[in-house]
Amino acid sequence: MDNHRTLINQAINILKDARHAVALTGAGISTGSGIPDFRSPESGLWDYMDPMEVATISAFKRNPKAFFDWIHPLVKKIMTAQPNPAHLALTHMEAFGPLQGIITQNIDILHTKAGSHTIYEVHGHLRDATCMHCLKTFESSKILNGYLDNGGIPRCPECGGVLKPNVILFGEILPVTILNRAKRLTQACDVMLVAGSSLEVAPAGDLPMLAKYSGAKVIIVNYEETHLDYLADVVIHADVEKVLPQLASVFVPETSV
Ligand SMILES: [Zn+2]
Repeated sequence: MDNHRTLINQAINILKDARHAVALTGAGISTGSGIPDFRSPESGLWDYMDPMEVATISAFKRNPKAFFDWIHPLVKKIMTAQPNPAHLALTHMEAFGPLQGIITQNIDILHTKAGSHTIYEVHGHLRDATCMHCLKTFESSKILNGYLDNGGIPRCPECGGVLKPNVILFGEILPVTILNRAKRLTQACDVMLVAGSSLEVAPAGDLPMLAKYSGAKVIIVNYEETHLDYLADVVIHADVEKVLPQLASVFVPETSV
């Protein structure tokens, strides 16, 4: 425990010296909000389904019903999930500390719900859905109610085409513009704070290396070991919901100093 406290203090000192920190978040930051890591076999989402059969872009086009049946429980969870103390800590660090932005692998919109402003969602998000036929985009909260209640295939309210959530499916190209911005933010940062990412999924998982090579310090807060622990300046293997609020607590609004 003492060791733990020492690591947290080391991370705090690094963040206090930072002027341009960036956070990289993954599934681990949202498990406390009840959202399973859908890439992990433990999520239960793959128990009866091969991801390559339903969650690739070609499978989606071939059989959207199978995709929507499979993802239904996850979408239901995400649409009602609330941010947890780890999300809120990052929002606090953006408002009162050195955090300049969040790069996330999550599609769950929880950083937005937590009130963070600069967010790069490199795997897309469930906030909107786009019609595969007329290409119009709609807010999920307005058009997915029927699907959430009854399942089936969500349809475009204007032309009846199949709606596709704006998440990046397997086999789809990641959003180039967002990814490039995330890389620029990484190259410009003086600290990268990794929170709840196993760093296994490229290219976001490679960003700590880019940060390190660009001269930044790297802090990793993750329950499990990651393959980039060796290059980090501080590694804290603990619950992000417990650690991030401690890191954020040292930053206070200037008026209350
Ligand atoms: Zn349409």
